[in-house]
Amino acid sequence: MTDSFALVRPDRRAELAAGLARVRSRIADACAAAGRDRTEVTMIAVTKTYPASDVVALAGLGVTDVGENRDQEAAPKAREVAAVGVTPRWHFIGRLQRNKVRSVVRYADMVQSVDRVRLASALDAAAVAARDRPLDVLLQVSIDADPARGGAVPGSSDPDVGLGPLVDAVAAAPGLRLAGLMAVAPLGWEPARAFDRLAALAAALRADHPQAASVSAGMSGDLETAIEHGATHVRVGSALLGMRPTLG
Ligand SMILES: *Cc1c(COP(=O)(O)O)cnc(C)c1O
Repeated sequence: MTDSFALVRPDRRAELAAGLARVRSRIADACAAAGRDRTEVTMIAVTKTYPASDVVALAGLGVTDVGENRDQEAAPKAREVAAVGVTPRWHFIGRLQRNKVRSVVRYADMVQSVDRVRLASALDAAAVAARDRPLDVLLQVSIDADPARGGAVPGSSDPDVGLGPLVDAVAAAPGLRLAGLMAVAPLGWEPARAFDRLAALAAALRADHPQAASVSAGMSGDLETAIEHGATHVRVGSALLGMRPTLG
């Protein structure tokens, strides 16, 4: 740990420490305002486009959970980080193709972007083959019911993209553990309206599956609103690591 930590440039470490202090105080303030205990909210540092050395630095500053959205980037990064003895929990939060599931199940502790029955089946088979315990999954829901941008569709009975069929498929999958829901506020929507709808969907899910209690919502721009509406996981990239140079 000491050795790997020494690889991080001191100026970058200071930058990350400052970003982390700001984000942690935003989360603490939002929890206080919502009357929630700070321990109810897990911060996931979204490290996409940033190097493995940033993950190592963040872990050295006490960050336990990191998020990535592309397997091509995440798989080698997770290997690099593990090679220096650092073992954060890895959350896969991006669009996932079925031909990547065998790679993802090897390093991911949680996949937050399961939005198709066919993807869930592929992930289940890969998890059963490669892991000694089930993979935690969140079902990504489409708040505005537009499946084109990803997310299962609430209220739809479509056998592949409907949220109901997806819940049943994941609940019955031996390699997967249904842990809750994830969403991104749709463009053009007030985050409060989006996260309110997500909270209602999450409450309905918990009524049938009490263990599925996680709600992943909120990013750099809207984490306070998400916490106010019951988020248990916030996914924070730019506020922590800086603006990304490219879309990602
Ligand atoms: C990139 C990304 C984030 C982090 O976004 P920021 O605005 O940089 O905090 C969160 N969730 C998902 C799904 C992402 O792809």
